[in-house]
Amino acid sequence: MKDMKRFETAVIHEGYDSLQHQGSLIPPLFQTSTFTFPTAQAGAERFAGEADGYVYSRLGNPTVKILEERIALLEQGEAALAFASGMAAVSATLFHLTKSGDHIICSEGVYGCTFGFLKLLEEKHYITHDYIPMDSEENLRAAICDHTSCIYIETPINPTMALIDLEMVARVAKEFDIPVVVDNTFCSPYLQQPLTLGCDYVIHSATKYIGGHGDVIAGIVVGPKNELETISTTTLKDIGGVIAPFNAWLLLRGLKTLPIRVDRHCDNAIKIAEHLKNHPQVEKVYFPGDKDFPQYELALKQMRRPGGMIGFEVKGNLEDAQRFLNQCRLIKLAVSLGDAESLIQHPATMTHSVIPKAERLKMGIKDNLIRLSVGLEAWEDIWDDLKQALDHLTNSNEPNEQTLK
Ligand SMILES: *Cc1c(COP(=O)(O)O)cnc(C)c1O
Repeated sequence: MKDMKRFETAVIHEGYDSLQHQGSLIPPLFQTSTFTFPTAQAGAERFAGEADGYVYSRLGNPTVKILEERIALLEQGEAALAFASGMAAVSATLFHLTKSGDHIICSEGVYGCTFGFLKLLEEKHYITHDYIPMDSEENLRAAICDHTSCIYIETPINPTMALIDLEMVARVAKEFDIPVVVDNTFCSPYLQQPLTLGCDYVIHSATKYIGGHGDVIAGIVVGPKNELETISTTTLKDIGGVIAPFNAWLLLRGLKTLPIRVDRHCDNAIKIAEHLKNHPQVEKVYFPGDKDFPQYELALKQMRRPGGMIGFEVKGNLEDAQRFLNQCRLIKLAVSLGDAESLIQHPATMTHSVIPKAERLKMGIKDNLIRLSVGLEAWEDIWDDLKQALDHLTNSNEPNEQTLK
């Protein structure tokens, strides 16, 4: 692998040489569906894979290529592939790693649509899966069977922020020669690099921190070069979830500020988590940067910083959670995360509503759990908004006191 510049430099420069592009400081946007061949023979050679050169943008595009090379380096992987969405990346990777009769081991709690896709694989393609608590080597070993063909994890787990020891999972998986796939969306490559801990594939919903501006849907897979080449020429090419060149260009633009944005997300989240913990209407806070977080040590070990995502339970039931959310003003009520704007949502009725209630509760997603993506605003303003919404809950939870005043 090539020597990489420091992360903060790599996000700006890696994978692109302006002198190869008429000095254009910014990577050009190749907004084209197809590429002309100088001769019939050259076209035939490109189709035969005997000559380099672009053919058609579903098979490859120069703007997309720059993005892929940059992200591969940031994750310290051999290669990367960009997709139309995080889910296109997840589904193509799982399709690639499994066949009928295979078995997938999953962390307990995955992104809602990943949950849906795993169900579809089971129902239509006889690829089974088990969600297991991956908190110990014993649990993981016990779940592995002779047709397990991949281990799929998210850490931190959305939205309870529970962590999985990536080094432990990678070590056990190696013994059985099972590839480990990590959805690294919540961390971005800046905070966590699963490949350096022995995992095999990293997936991102680039819609989130990598894009960072709430204006693009996209996905990325990073992994072994030969495997990604196969994905590129099969599941990506033939199912067709390719990224639009303009979206790749937007991601290149977003990436440049990834480290400074994520540092600010983390700074803000640390402040907000502290304040949430001390509010009487908050029952529990889930944040890897909290010293009382059960896996605080693991967070220190495998994450550069705690991230910008916080889960917390308000006092009360589902209706109280909804009343609290309806009271937020600055913080926008929306799913997604990693944007400049603080975003708040209700997992039980939104991102995780497809999961049957019993399973959802087993994952620790109670009706009063709120997920907050801490934005880049002044943390004091974010807190003021949360505080007035929480105080509103206090007032409406104690109607007698209110009327007496
Ligand atoms: C958003 C998200 C996805 C899906 O990504 P899209 O870009 O919306 O398709 C997958 N995993 C996680 C953890 C996510 O947050």
